[in-house]
Amino acid sequence: MYKFNVHSPVSLEEALELKATFGANIHPLAGGTDVLVSIRNNRVDWGEQPSLLDLNKIQALHFVRETPDTIEIGPLMTHSEISNHPLIQSHIPALAKAVSYIGSPQIRNTGTIAGNMCHASPAADSLPILYCRNAIIEIQTQDQTTTVPIEEFITGPGFIGLDSSGIVTKISVPKLPNFVGDYLTLRQRQALSCNVVSVGVEMLQPNKGNEIEEIRIALGAVSPTVVRGKKTENLLKNKILTQKLIDEAHDLIQTECVPIDDVRSNKNYRQAMTGVLLSRFLINNV
Ligand SMILES: Cc1cc2nc3c(=O)[nH]c(=O)nc-3n(C[C@H](O)[C@H](O)[C@H](O)COP(=O)(O)OP(=O)(O)OC[C@H]3O[C@@H](n4cnc5c(N)ncnc54)[C@H](O)[C@@H]3O)c2cc1C
Repeated sequence: MYKFNVHSPVSLEEALELKATFGANIHPLAGGTDVLVSIRNNRVDWGEQPSLLDLNKIQALHFVRETPDTIEIGPLMTHSEISNHPLIQSHIPALAKAVSYIGSPQIRNTGTIAGNMCHASPAADSLPILYCRNAIIEIQTQDQTTTVPIEEFITGPGFIGLDSSGIVTKISVPKLPNFVGDYLTLRQRQALSCNVVSVGVEMLQPNKGNEIEEIRIALGAVSPTVVRGKKTENLLKNKILTQKLIDEAHDLIQTECVPIDDVRSNKNYRQAMTGVLLSRFLINNV
């Protein structure tokens, strides 16, 4: 039997007041697919009767909006809602694809984008494309609203830079007109299986001469956090794509991660597959 104190505010103001009062002693609850599993499995010391701040009744955290330069995503958007949303499908199709791999229909109908981000797993499926897009995270406390780039928001495996009185209130994803993106992932099964390695890519559609003017690459499940492959991005930038260049990128990207051996895979396989997945993207999209 698990006991919680659950607070279910109906407005953001009320939620921020509760967070200001209880600070680190109250834990935001979105879909609960990470929090509740962690409490049940005693993954961290949750204390006798943890207090949960259930955000689900706050309508103001549940939206997708378009501005001239960005798509703004509310933290309570579930993975199913994101993968089916027309604005996401049209402006960030690789994110729609990435979250469609998560868990199972039940998990995708319940788990949210902010929960996936705040859990900060290096294998989280939403993250590589958010890194490629340089997504900006909005955090509100009772006193202020701040923004932080995703690469600074996630500080380590399971760690985020969030004030104990703060709540994530928006994820702003810059539009990238004329880019093609993709999310490539290897996992042991097609469903209910965690990422073994993933590669997110966003690339400015090459011109007729096959020159890559800009490309962004992010790697998942191969380092303590998701990482950008900046050396490989620089290698490919302003180059005409040839088989020789693909081979060079295939080798270089493998040096930009530090995978580990674990129950799902081993470091040599993970490292090698970053090269294979990136080459696959380049061959298919140029
Ligand atoms: C069976 C199973 C399969 C899974 N498969 C996958 C998978 O394939 N890929 C994958 O990436 N993940 C997977 N997950 C992990 C999980 O479902 C996702 O990470 C999900 O997106 C978490 O979202 P949630 O809304 O359930 O988060 P919650 O569990 O509610 O919260 C997670 C964390 O985020 C914090 N949080 C949530 N919202 C906010 C907010 N607005 N502000 C501040 N902090 C907040 C919570 O306090 C908590 O620390 C799986 C989980 C299960 C149980």
